[in-house]
Amino acid sequence: MLFSTEPKDSIEDLFDREREVEKLKNSLKERMTLILGPRRIGKSSLVLSTLNSLGVNFIFVDVRRAYDDVSRKVPAERLYEEMRSSLLRLSKRERVKDIIGRLNVSLEYPVGARIPIEEIKNNILKIFETLNDIGGAIVVFDEAQYLRYSTVGLRPVLAHVYDYMDGITTILTGSEVGLLHDFVGVDDPDSELYGRYHSSIELKPLDREKSREFLRRGFGELGIDVDEGVLERAVSELDGIIGWLVYFGKLYADRGEEALEDVRSMGARLLRKELDEVFSRSPYYAHIMKAIATLGRARWKNVLNYVAAQVGRASNVTVSRNLRNLIKMGFVEKDGDEYLIADPIVRYAMLE
Ligand code: ADP
Ligand code: MG
Repeated sequence: MLFSTEPKDSIEDLFDREREVEKLKNSLKERMTLILGPRRIGKSSLVLSTLNSLGVNFIFVDVRRAYDDVSRKVPAERLYEEMRSSLLRLSKRERVKDIIGRLNVSLEYPVGARIPIEEIKNNILKIFETLNDIGGAIVVFDEAQYLRYSTVGLRPVLAHVYDYMDGITTILTGSEVGLLHDFVGVDDPDSELYGRYHSSIELKPLDREKSREFLRRGFGELGIDVDEGVLERAVSELDGIIGWLVYFGKLYADRGEEALEDVRSMGARLLRKELDEVFSRSPYYAHIMKAIATLGRARWKNVLNYVAAQVGRASNVTVSRNLRNLIKMGFVEKDGDEYLIADPIVRYAMLE
């Protein structure tokens, strides 16, 4: 079903993306690949569908699930648990079961328990070793930029895996592209992962023609007839972000033409938690985003003036640093001299 809101996990359900699928398949010969693109563009879907279609051994670790909102960390024990449970989903192979058995079972960490980080790190390494021993596997860290919050430094672990376990292929996906680059250390010769990743696959929004075709096909599956005018409006409002097209399709199936309004307001509501989490990290983020959303496209001076008007005095350096972070997180884009918010629903959410 094209309009299902879960990430697609089968190639038959994956719309378009043939080139990216091929590219991903080819890059599996290499040791480490990055999958980059804004939120809801289809990164998880691409990876899951492609790997399932190959029938290879892989584990899929959703790093966001290990993130703790309160401490704003990825506690080592949670990351380990995520990895361990994804290992359990992996395979029927007796060997894996056997080794899972030997991965310290007492490591179902009681909340608040103090387990030495070194112990957890060794267990994480043991998981990689296990996978390597059984003939290799692909290890996916989904939304891997969150690994930089991990209380066990994962970069040296991944470098070790890269250097010594040639059965392991690592895939890192990230919607906060700049932050994932920072984590990997793309420009940082001191990073343990510097120069080690092979290729990156960047996912782009669908163009208008593809967006239209996607909606038509999705509605076709449901046997729903939709007016061309409605399709046209949805296509121009949702800017080719597949996740929003899916959401629109689902809403339309439920409530007809109101869906065009609802996709914005309900989409904005869905975003609330995500945005609040970001805004809690700096008091400037919300003002900067609002400035840009209000103006549509804003120059540096516009942003600075707007923020200054909101907070009294704002230092150039601080606003500039915060703006740069928003770009790294993928919320703001720079186009020439202008800043803009690419995701139409995020833009809308900022204006509500
Ligand atoms: P991301 O991981 O980039 O945030 P997801 O893979 O979770 O994006 O996809 C967001 C939404 O869009 C989901 O509802 C998913 O089913 C849908 N989707 C993504 N890519 C495709 C695709 N190529 N074909 C059909 N649906 C897709
Ligand atoms: Mg995803």
